[in-house]
Amino acid sequence: MTQKLHLFDTYLTRFEATVVALRDHEGRTALVLDRTAFFAEGGGQPADRGTAGEAAVDDVVEVGDEVLHLLGAGPVPAPGARVACAVDWARRLDHVQQHHGQHLLSAAFERIHGAATLSFHLGAATCTIDLDAPPLRMTPEALAAAEAEANRLVWADLPIDARERSPEEAAALPLRKEAVKGLRIVVVGGGESGPVVDASPCGGTHPRRTGEVGGVAVLRAQKWGAGTRVEFACGGRVLGLLHQAEDRIARASGALRCAPAELVAAVEKVAEEGTARRKELDRMLLALAAVEAARLDGAGAGAAPVVARLEGSLGSPAGLKAVAQALAARGRTAVLGGIDAGRAHLCLARARGAGAHLGEVLRESVGVLGGKGGGAPDLAQGSGPDVGRLDEALAAAAARARGGERA
Ligand SMILES: [Zn+2]
Repeated sequence: MTQKLHLFDTYLTRFEATVVALRDHEGRTALVLDRTAFFAEGGGQPADRGTAGEAAVDDVVEVGDEVLHLLGAGPVPAPGARVACAVDWARRLDHVQQHHGQHLLSAAFERIHGAATLSFHLGAATCTIDLDAPPLRMTPEALAAAEAEANRLVWADLPIDARERSPEEAAALPLRKEAVKGLRIVVVGGGESGPVVDASPCGGTHPRRTGEVGGVAVLRAQKWGAGTRVEFACGGRVLGLLHQAEDRIARASGALRCAPAELVAAVEKVAEEGTARRKELDRMLLALAAVEAARLDGAGAGAAPVVARLEGSLGSPAGLKAVAQALAARGRTAVLGGIDAGRAHLCLARARGAGAHLGEVLRESVGVLGGKGGGAPDLAQGSGPDVGRLDEALAAAAARARGGERA
């Protein structure tokens, strides 16, 4: 069984150990040491990384009572060898900040809102906890109150005592959750600092004092099953997220040529203008379609379908539909086609009442284009990839529409 040094000293990053065995873990070489300061993935906290001798330790997992150090690049030490090991402190400190911040945030949700934490995940960018409280109760104000309480505990710089307890000691503590995997309990406060503010069974790495967490920022919450998932970040990550947000604001305000403080107003204005322009474009397309429909109506004989290929914006699905409907309003049957965005489009329309079922006509003729489509008896649209056969598809549709008229 590997002796776990990190359970007694979070700050131990350099140690010597003897290689007990080499193992194969899912196709990777793994080192078993007699003692380790590497935290193995567990309880929502990812594993430490670092080096063992000259080999990189890329991941650490616990299998049975062995801690397996999965090796990356570098020479593999032989069994029996004495190796100098180093834990990546920047990664460890980040995990310590996130994990202890989670303890404080969970304690705050429990105390202020009676919301228990069901699970914790320490992600690459942010962390999450899942609460047993419905999202309706976790309003922005409720989240802000829990965040403020967690930061109050951080800035009070309370002592943290993480160690194994006797059953009697554990029974005397106000445990936030039941101890299921041993009696290592992380206690915040107590003694000369005042009352115990949190006591939670945990095998993770924790700092000496709450102040080392730096700060806790609740980012957002969402429904998660019957409960609520709260996303947050602690310590150095808060700074990283702030810089990332500032960078995005700077780039967005640069693109809109406005001051960062005016970004929201500028974005709202751009969105409003975009909507107004789309509406204006729709009006212009309808006006253009009416002119085109009048031209096509005047060019052909009264009873026959108007068969035409349209170009430009009138050849798009929206353009074809507008012209076809304008022709139908003039009492004509429209068989229109166009090529838009690399596809051939068909649109058929006629006045309501007796006549060919254009939805059925379209389904057959769009098959010529290798596509699918359908619609109502008096209006149908479809498209296919075979743009070279558009004229053929138009001719087939015109013949069928004409046949239907006769029937
Ligand atoms: Zn924990």
